[in-house]
Amino acid sequence: MFLPSCVSRVADQAARGISPSYDEARQLTNIIASADEKTAQAIFDVAATIRQTHFGNTTGLCAIINAKSGRCGEDCAFCAQSRHYPEANSPDYPLIDAETVETAARTMKAAGVNRFSIVTSGLGPSPSEFKRLLELIRTIRQIGLLADASIGLVDAERLQRMKQAGLVGYHHNLETSRRFFPSICTTHDYEDDVQVVRQAVNAGLYVCSGGIFGLGETWQDRLDLAHTLEELGVHSVPVNFLHPIPGTPLAKRPLLTRLEAGKIIALYRLILPTKHLRVCGGRGDVYGSDTVGPISHGASGLMVGDYLTTKGSALERDIDQLSKAGLQPEPSVLGS
Ligand code: SF4
Repeated sequence: MFLPSCVSRVADQAARGISPSYDEARQLTNIIASADEKTAQAIFDVAATIRQTHFGNTTGLCAIINAKSGRCGEDCAFCAQSRHYPEANSPDYPLIDAETVETAARTMKAAGVNRFSIVTSGLGPSPSEFKRLLELIRTIRQIGLLADASIGLVDAERLQRMKQAGLVGYHHNLETSRRFFPSICTTHDYEDDVQVVRQAVNAGLYVCSGGIFGLGETWQDRLDLAHTLEELGVHSVPVNFLHPIPGTPLAKRPLLTRLEAGKIIALYRLILPTKHLRVCGGRGDVYGSDTVGPISHGASGLMVGDYLTTKGSALERDIDQLSKAGLQPEPSVLGS
């Protein structure tokens, strides 16, 4: 299949781990955005080859626990946990106990997951919650998993204290581009989120930061988010697809098609060739029970188990399908 020369050029660089310039990435974005199914399939094949070059036959599996849900004062338009959308009816509970976290972490470890993240709603934990979160991080490490956290806007001191407790990765999504962000959230600034990501990178943590697609953003917004993430030097990029939740302002947004979702993954693989691209929320909405679909479009990791306020796909089925496709879970660097 004939590939536009821009795609071939970017792919050659990507195979060597080099990201395209902004101008090249913009050309690439225009080609991918307008690609018909046949051209898109050829681009998916290229993206899958680049994934194979950098990640081999491994797939990064991560799981989260929603350790504190609801009651959030922010107004992120996609989120059921916002207090601004009471009709979204999301689970609402304070920080959960250590036993529940430990049980969930052990289950995921037994299934081959190597990263486990504690996620809490809201802009940031109170001092007493933070103390308990440090304990949870220690517990996850003792189980032999890489401990990650996603607990909102934290400062450099809190990042250091979590790192000392054994935290390996910090997760904080930028959600979308700087331009489109005010259409999605009005209660804090994009720069606040960028600052956390920057501080987490500076703290020497493994930083996972990405976004959610299907919010009504343009391809230019998708490109700009990728570019910002590349500039920030994040290590891993969660790719979420909007699961429109009744009661939220985006309840009526259409689901992304598999073709468009695949194009987003392929674009990000070509722009961020060596970064882990982890397909997380909305995977089932777009790919149904096809676990390997996102990998064939260039993703190198998946979130397994449940998401924050929505059910995930069956863990055993995911592991089974990956194994049948010759893909092994990425080993934990802890080796236990
Ligand atoms: S995404 Fe996070 S900050 Fe935004 S409303 Fe949901 S819980 Fe709050």
